[in-house]
Amino acid sequence: MTEPARVVTHDLAHRFPGTDVLFEHLDFTAEPGQTIAVCGPSGCGKSTLLSILAGWEKPYRGSVERIGIRRIGWVFQNPYGVAGRTALDHVAFPLLAKGMRRRDAETEALDAMNLFDLGYAADRRFGDLSGGEAQRLMLARAVCSRPDLLLVDEPTAQLDTRTAHSVSHVLGNLAGQGMIVLVATHDPDTRDACGRVLDLADYAPREGEDVDADAATADGQRWHGPRWFR
Ligand code: ADP
Ligand code: MG
Repeated sequence: MTEPARVVTHDLAHRFPGTDVLFEHLDFTAEPGQTIAVCGPSGCGKSTLLSILAGWEKPYRGSVERIGIRRIGWVFQNPYGVAGRTALDHVAFPLLAKGMRRRDAETEALDAMNLFDLGYAADRRFGDLSGGEAQRLMLARAVCSRPDLLLVDEPTAQLDTRTAHSVSHVLGNLAGQGMIVLVATHDPDTRDACGRVLDLADYAPREGEDVDADAATADGQRWHGPRWFR
């Protein structure tokens, strides 16, 4: 019997060497079918939290449990691709590389593109796509690889208001795909498109509180964090 997939954080706190504490006492559970907006002003630690959830960054304190997570997808702030290749090629390529037949790969790729209202652009060259189309293409490609956990970092940061709106709008279509999705954003439109909001401002360190205080050892020695931190 397999446990249902989920991501659970336990009393997570983070700071980088030389920075203040970004967030602390962060306890939450993310489950499949949820699209969670990770909000807060620039520099509050949204991208860092995604990296910690992915296991790329070690948290300063606390832990992350990834249960039943085999594949992790990541959509970056800046879309990237090959100017002369078609949009469809970009989504189908990873499937072809896994050994899928071209017909099946293209059908699946087109389904994913339709999920983001992008079917009409299948034969357009990547270099001719608008910023919003390119970003929706990155989302389609990520979904095609069927990750259990999809991390999307500031999908609308590089876009004008109208294009950003088109991306925010289709983010809502991710619910029901059976993935755990977290979207780091400071765009209210994007936040509203997500079913759940995790506001890092709620986990900002409080005045006079010390992230290390309750980590003091029994003999009164201060805990100095993991080795890499020193
Ligand atoms: P956000 O995504 O919310 O804008 P980030 O998670 O990128 O914020 O960064 C949070 C803070 O941590 C920023 O002040 C940033 O400069 C700092 N920071 C990010 N990565 C590192 C690092 N590797 N070393 C030191 N400081 C970092
Ligand atoms: Mg960021």
